[in-house]
Amino acid sequence: MAREFSDFGAAVCSGVPLSTLTSFHIGGPADYFIEPGSIDELARLVERCADLELPFCVIGAGSNLLVADAGLHAAVFRLSRMDRIERRGSRVLCEAGTPLQRLVWQAEQWGLSGLEPLAGIPGSVGGAIAMNAGGQTGCVAETIESVTTIDRTGAVRPRTPEDLAMGYRHSLLKPEIAIAATFELAEADASEIAERRRSVLEEKTLSQPLAAHSAGCVFKNPPGRSAGQLIDKAGLKGERVGPAVVSDQHANFIINQGGATARDVLRLIRRVRRRVRKHFGVDLELEIELWN
Ligand SMILES: Cc1cc2nc3c(=O)[nH]c(=O)nc-3n(C[C@H](O)[C@H](O)[C@H](O)COP(=O)(O)OP(=O)(O)OC[C@H]3O[C@@H](n4cnc5c(N)ncnc54)[C@H](O)[C@@H]3O)c2cc1C
Repeated sequence: MAREFSDFGAAVCSGVPLSTLTSFHIGGPADYFIEPGSIDELARLVERCADLELPFCVIGAGSNLLVADAGLHAAVFRLSRMDRIERRGSRVLCEAGTPLQRLVWQAEQWGLSGLEPLAGIPGSVGGAIAMNAGGQTGCVAETIESVTTIDRTGAVRPRTPEDLAMGYRHSLLKPEIAIAATFELAEADASEIAERRRSVLEEKTLSQPLAAHSAGCVFKNPPGRSAGQLIDKAGLKGERVGPAVVSDQHANFIINQGGATARDVLRLIRRVRRRVRKHFGVDLELEIELWN
């Protein structure tokens, strides 16, 4: 265990390759990788990082990240040990490290509707809040009543979706850390919820390369347009830089076919942007987050 954190019960590792923690399977080592087991421990870890003047960041399931090949001189927290879900009437309280699909499944088992639009989206509840994850039929903000956050001084406070300005694949959650959220759902017939969840999942499976190593859609859709269609019409499906390739199935996905580096993906991103700007005069904005 790293000396700087040896008095913590949390699991602390040094030099963990972030490629093992991201869906792209790309990324160099982090100085520290820490999995706190409680809010109290997280608060003390945040304080310790401040004392050490060590930057920190939070990773969920790493499904929306492109991490630099050189890695990060930082502490990376993952809240995977903070994953309790509890029902209170039509509300669900859920810790931020919970896998999003476990929440979707559990709500369905309880006959609580509202989370079906999130079916099939990888990631954690914390990551879904940070990104306001969603699809064609809805996004996570629509079901959130409040989010409990902790700030960089260790202060815990409730936030509403309005406080967090949750919009299309965007929130102002950072620099705070989400530790839990309350979802306000609607009681409904479990079989009808399952039907809606299956239909979202079917559409997603048909249109997206879900089994490949990627970080989902690379670019946000420009207002009124589809980034995938623009990239496709610019003739970029199959375009590659080494093992980093624009998906044939969905042009807004870049796939790591094996051994791609962040540098490869960034070169491909620049090429796609250039070509789309040239053909359509549109500047594509990144949906994935770059960590470097
Ligand atoms: C195959 C595939 C399909 C996808 N389909 C969709 C889709 O349909 N719709 C969609 O919206 N997205 C989609 N994505 C993108 C991704 O799954 C979502 O953005 C997801 O919500 C990211 O969650 P995560 O836990 O993996 O976050 P990460 O990628 O680990 O992190 C993303 C951001 O969230 C922050 N974060 C994570 N946890 C916390 C926390 N507790 N507190 C504060 N900040 C936190 C991180 O610091 C980072 O800024 C897809 C990705 C893949 C690989």
